[in-house]
Order: sequence, then C-alpha cells, then structure tokens
Amino acid sequence: MPQDALAILDQLRSWRAQDAPTHGGHVMSYVYDSGLADLDALAARAMALVQPVNGLDPTMFTSVAHMERDLITFARDLLGGDRTVVGTATSGGTESCLLAVKTARANHRGTDHPSILAPASVHAAFHKAAEYLGLALDLVPVGQDGQADPEAVIARMGPDTALVVLSAPSYPHGALDPIEQVAAAALARGIDCHVDACFGGWILPFWDGLPPWDLSVPGVTSLAADLHKYGYAPKGISVLLTKGAARQHGQYFATTDWPGYPVVNPTLLGSKSAAPLAAAWAITRHLGVSGYAALAESCKRSTAALAACIADIEGLTVVGSPAGPLLAVARDPGAGLGSGIDPHLWADRLAASGWHLQLQPGYRQPDGSWLPRTTHLTITPVTESVLPPLRAALVSCADEVRGVAGVDPQQVLAALGPAGAAGAEDDGVQRVLSAMGVTPGDGSLPKDMAPLLALVEALPREASGKLLIELLAGLVVPLDRDPGPKP
Ligand SMILES: *Cc1c(COP(=O)(O)O)cnc(C)c1O
Repeated sequence: MPQDALAILDQLRSWRAQDAPTHGGHVMSYVYDSGLADLDALAARAMALVQPVNGLDPTMFTSVAHMERDLITFARDLLGGDRTVVGTATSGGTESCLLAVKTARANHRGTDHPSILAPASVHAAFHKAAEYLGLALDLVPVGQDGQADPEAVIARMGPDTALVVLSAPSYPHGALDPIEQVAAAALARGIDCHVDACFGGWILPFWDGLPPWDLSVPGVTSLAADLHKYGYAPKGISVLLTKGAARQHGQYFATTDWPGYPVVNPTLLGSKSAAPLAAAWAITRHLGVSGYAALAESCKRSTAALAACIADIEGLTVVGSPAGPLLAVARDPGAGLGSGIDPHLWADRLAASGWHLQLQPGYRQPDGSWLPRTTHLTITPVTESVLPPLRAALVSCADEVRGVAGVDPQQVLAALGPAGAAGAEDDGVQRVLSAMGVTPGDGSLPKDMAPLLALVEALPREASGKLLIELLAGLVVPLDRDPGPKP
C-alpha cells in the first residue's frame, strides 16, 4: 500500500528522535558540530541544488568540476601544497586511504609483494586497504604515550615498502607522527609517504607549536583531509591531495574494454552524489580561512579545559600529549587499587547520564606490548557551549566508579561459560551474543559497552571480528512483515 508523504516523514522523524543527538555536544565522536546553525542551513540548500546531479561525469555536469576544483585549490593552499599538487574529492576518509594505497601500489617499482609500513596507531582504514588491495601491512609498535619512534619506522623500510603512512594526528591517541624525519628517509629511498590528516587536516593548520606535518614537508607525497570532520560538512566528503599529476594517475581507473561508455573514475564509485561536495564547497567558501581559524580557537580552549579537568580527576590520565582536539583517557597507572578508574566503566556511567564518549579496547601490539584500554573524546566547537555540565559529569561519573575494578576480559569469557570459549569457533558467536543479552536479528544491542569491549580484548581477533559482524548484520536482517504502518 503506497504511503502518504507526511506519514513517511513522521516515521522517519520518530526514528531520528531515537538517534544519539547529532547536535549539542553530547556525542563526542562521529559528529563534528560547528555549533553554527547557518552552516547547516547553507549546506542543506547547496545539497538540494545538486540533488539530481550525477557526479560520475563532470563533463556533462560541469558544476561538479567547478566545485571540486575550487575545493581542491582551497585545500592545497591550506595544507602546504605547491603548484605540483593535484587532488580529488572522495566520499570520506576511508576512500581517501584506499586510494592513497592504490596509487602507491600502481607506482611501486620494487617487488611482487608490496607492503604498507605504518605505526601501529594507523587508522583501521589502512587495514581495510591492505585487505582490499592485496598488500601486506607492516605495523611498528608505538610507545605507551601513543608516539611512534621514527628510527624504528625507518629501520623497517625495504624494497617491499610501497607506502609509508603517518598520521596527523593518530585517531586513537591524537599523536602527531614524526613526519619530517620519516618522510626524509622515505624520500632518500624513493618510497612514497602519505600523511593521514583525515582527522587533523582542517584544524591542525590552526594549532600552535607543532612541527611541520603537511605537504610542505620534503618527502610527503600525498595527504588526505576529511571535510566531514573539522571541515564541518555533512558526511560523505574528504580530499586526497597528491604531489605530481603523473603519480596521481595511478589513482584512476579507466577502461574502454567493454561495449558501453568509456569509463574513467578517479574514485571507487561510479555514479555518485554531488551533494556532499556541494555542501563542503559552500561551507569552505562561507567560512574561509578566518572562519576555520575562529572555530579552531574554540576547540583549543575546550581541549585545554577538558585536559585540565581530567588531570584533576584522581585515577584517570590523558595518554601522551595530543596534537589536536582529542583526548584519550586511560586509568592512571600510578593510582592505587582503591583510587584507579577504569575508563570504560566511566564511559558507561557517562552514557547513562547522556554523555557519549567512545570506548577503545586495550590492544596487543605486534611486539607483544600492551596498550591499555582508553576512552576517547573528540572536542568540537560546540563543546564550549556545554563545558560546565560536561566537566561536572566527567567528575561525578568518575567519583561513582573510582576504585571499582574494570571488566576483566578473562572473567567475561568465564562468565559466558561454554559460549565464551565457543567464541573462537565458527558457530559460537551466536551463543556469545545471546549470553550477552543480544538476540541476533531482533535489533537489540548490549546495554553496557564495557563488557562487550572486554570481550573484544579477550577473544582472538578473528573471533571478535566475527562477533561484531554478527551483531551489526543482525540489525538489518529483513523483517518477515511489511514495515508499513499497522492497519
Ligand atoms: C576518520 C579517520 C579515517 C577514516 O575516515 P572515515 O571518514 O571514517 O572513512 C582515517 N584516518 C583518520 C586519522 C581518521 O580520523
């Protein structure tokens, strides 16, 4: 039965009302809120103007080329690129990462077994790129402060290395990788060096006291920066900038080897929306460099205020010295039994009071060293408007869980009984989920995240991957009835 438009929108509105709030600063990951309502309105109008356009063909829809060229020029100038730098608008950070790897693979003149070399803190999108594109991933352990050791990275460069990836900054801890030293060594060996500035690209240009990290650094051959993070655009837009048009040609796919239209794609998609590009183009025009600088000032004030707040909370500590508006918070290793705070129990308390921080599991590095579990806060301009209640919540939730032992991964496994042990096997995943109170297929989610993350720490990686796939796939198993309104 066709539905009335108003009823359809009412349904969507009621579903949206149950989402985590995208505005107002209560969700401290995933969403990057400028706090400026007129920016959102401008983006919506720009998107509506290009809604029917197919971004596949900028020769047919020339507005796409105009917007992209403008956006790439603005990004190049902000990110230290000279006139040899060219670029592409992509659908997001992951696509930029995949394409940077594809380009490097195409240009690699070494061996038959190209690999990506990176500190272990590199974004998971490079694990994905390695898997999709058939490269090995050589991960160099980072220190307890999240910092990569330049000598250790350089020592691993070899004939197989098609690309070195460095982060500006790393997503897990906000560490700015040693870009100058490593890029210089890569240059000397003829190895491409990519800077993943997906997180920092639109805000680090305004951060104080950082060593050089952008396209102006000798040896850096490409850089990606997400507009849908600190560019404040809606989701679906990033830029990948590359030194040298000849190098960038490796990023393209072109074929005339079929009976249809000649295909030439700079990115993964064929037909694609021009809407996120239009939104990002309009926002960069509207804000300009000075607008971005002003929003960055707000992020700096809030980051400093929250770092000071956490330093004052007994039992918690900020990991390393983050470059940019993010904080990874760990249990203070110096705290005694009664005064330490498990960052995941803290995050679950905060979630129950309406503040959503991001839980990051403890991580076993390739050399066997252990990076402790942390809770991640992404700070955006809107954060400043909620600083007093946020600080109060950070403190009071810490008081509630101080001295409480965190969820012990081995105990979670044991508590799940045979189901836990079965997690490592193919058919065990369903049983593990059921034991956690999740009925696969009915859309249910675990109430607290700490036990789930502890399980991720405890299970072998293959098994935890399967578990999470099962959980997410279960959310969209088709219904056995029509989803329309009940008669
Ligand atoms: C967000 C991010 C990515 C991946 O970007 P998506 O837009 O989520 O696909 C890659 N690297 C870093 C450092 C990031 O912060």
